[in-house]
Amino acid sequence: MAIDYTVELESFEWDIPEGYNIPAVIESHADSFGDRVALKFRDADGGREERTYDDLRRDMNRFANALESMGVEKGDRVIHLLPRDPDVFAIQLGALKRGALLVPSSSMLKPKDIEFRANDCEATTAIVHESLVGMVDEVRADTPLEHFVVLGGDADGWTEFDEVVAGESDRHDGPELKAEDPMSINYTSGTTGKPKPVRHRHRWMRCFELVNAPYWWGVTADDDLSDELLWATTGTGWAKWFWSPVGVGLTTGATQFVYRGDFEPETFLDIMEEEGITRLCAVPTQYRMFAQHDLASYDLKLKEALSAGEPLNREPIEAFREAFDVIPRDGYGQTETVALLTNYPGIDVKPGSMGKPTPGLGTTLIDEDGEEVDDGEIGEIAVPVDCPGIFDGYYEKPHLDEKTFAGDYYRTGDLASRDEDGYFFFEGRADDIIISAGYRIGPFEVEDALVSHEAVAEAAAVGSPHEERGSIVKAFVVLTGGYEGSDELVDELQAFMKEETAPYKYPREIEFVDELPKTSSGKIRRIELRSQERE
Ligand code: ATP
Ligand code: MG
Repeated sequence: MAIDYTVELESFEWDIPEGYNIPAVIESHADSFGDRVALKFRDADGGREERTYDDLRRDMNRFANALESMGVEKGDRVIHLLPRDPDVFAIQLGALKRGALLVPSSSMLKPKDIEFRANDCEATTAIVHESLVGMVDEVRADTPLEHFVVLGGDADGWTEFDEVVAGESDRHDGPELKAEDPMSINYTSGTTGKPKPVRHRHRWMRCFELVNAPYWWGVTADDDLSDELLWATTGTGWAKWFWSPVGVGLTTGATQFVYRGDFEPETFLDIMEEEGITRLCAVPTQYRMFAQHDLASYDLKLKEALSAGEPLNREPIEAFREAFDVIPRDGYGQTETVALLTNYPGIDVKPGSMGKPTPGLGTTLIDEDGEEVDDGEIGEIAVPVDCPGIFDGYYEKPHLDEKTFAGDYYRTGDLASRDEDGYFFFEGRADDIIISAGYRIGPFEVEDALVSHEAVAEAAAVGSPHEERGSIVKAFVVLTGGYEGSDELVDELQAFMKEETAPYKYPREIEFVDELPKTSSGKIRRIELRSQERE
């Protein structure tokens, strides 16, 4: 869908029906086009399954009834740890239909992470894949959890999912759900500290439909989506899952693809070719790894490629443009929000930019006093608090609310600048900015330039304490295959960087490492490198 952005910006209106909720959307999709495929699933061994919108409705209602039989009531916290599985939607939708507060959790969590979350939000019910029950068993005695449902097999002390839904009715007469009722507690990635519990209301999904779908994915519920196959590679426990598979795929009634298997660039490229993926949403790490392959040898039906979560480097943008004539479009937002900035369909992409503000949100840049900053200056990305596209607080964490809701704005903690054409450029998280000899240096610019050198696969830049300069820029570098770290290579990279960036930004120290510390969602944890440097 081509968008006349200038017109849309003016005329955009939030249309959020009072009774909006995603289970009701699925009921309505099933009424209108029940035999349309909602989900094409494939696992690493080539096993395939499909679910139509009718199937989703039936399975959602059966699971909602099962939760009722177990005693789960409106507002109870239901946590899940699930790999990408054909039944994930049914489980998420069923819990929501029951009126529960869904607590999606990553299948990559460790026992201590599970213990933290279950206690933090006082979860009573856990829905966990058979391969992960051990993680929960290690800590279950130290949590408020009472009900344990296992998917995909059996386990001691757990009730099987197939058993709890067997014999349940295909209709669920649950509590009334409104757009303003609490829907979920989504924990943030924990890139800068402990994950934070973000409380969302049912309207969040409607905001995705109104913003992320048209202004990022380029689809709406009114389009003919019969030739489309959407693929968002995210895991089921991250906000990204709600940003795309639920917030775009399900709300618009599209057909989407879900793959259970580890990320491996060649496998993923093969899959895109075999399945005929038309719209892809992946993360920068994945794009960087795609770009290391011979993309020209793949024959894809790809029309759109999207990226979010971290800054997108110029290199993969160029590689995709060359091989597929598709320009990966970056979008920016948080667990706390919908897409606040996107390179919307049809925009003239400026590589390195997160794009422009999405309609209806009023995303802007402010200084410490809450005043808007001028073009060309660095400010904190902020959104007016009365906007429906953001969360309305952390779950029982008033001290966090106080820090982030300041005056008229929700403050994201991210710094950016805006050019004279209205494009936003990511500078870094407020905590990640390096101050060296009075200069403020965003790590991304340093990293982006480093990655454009052929010896560098990945890089992270942090401030390392220095007597005279306060800090110096230090880069941790993962080399591409075939290169080995040496003093000569350090010299070469430094000389290269002095050409690529303003000289004060070049990394005065470079350390070669095998891998960078990352969150389980794949984001670079500069906080770890920083504290390592401080010691
Ligand atoms: P935590 O809040 O626990 O430290 P987190 O902020 O990484 O973790 P998420 O909500 O998953 O948790 O990620 C949102 C953050 O990701 C943003 O605040 C921003 O720092 C970064 N981000 C998201 N999209 C982009 C993008 N397109 N470019 C640059 N950074 C991005
Ligand atoms: Mg955050």
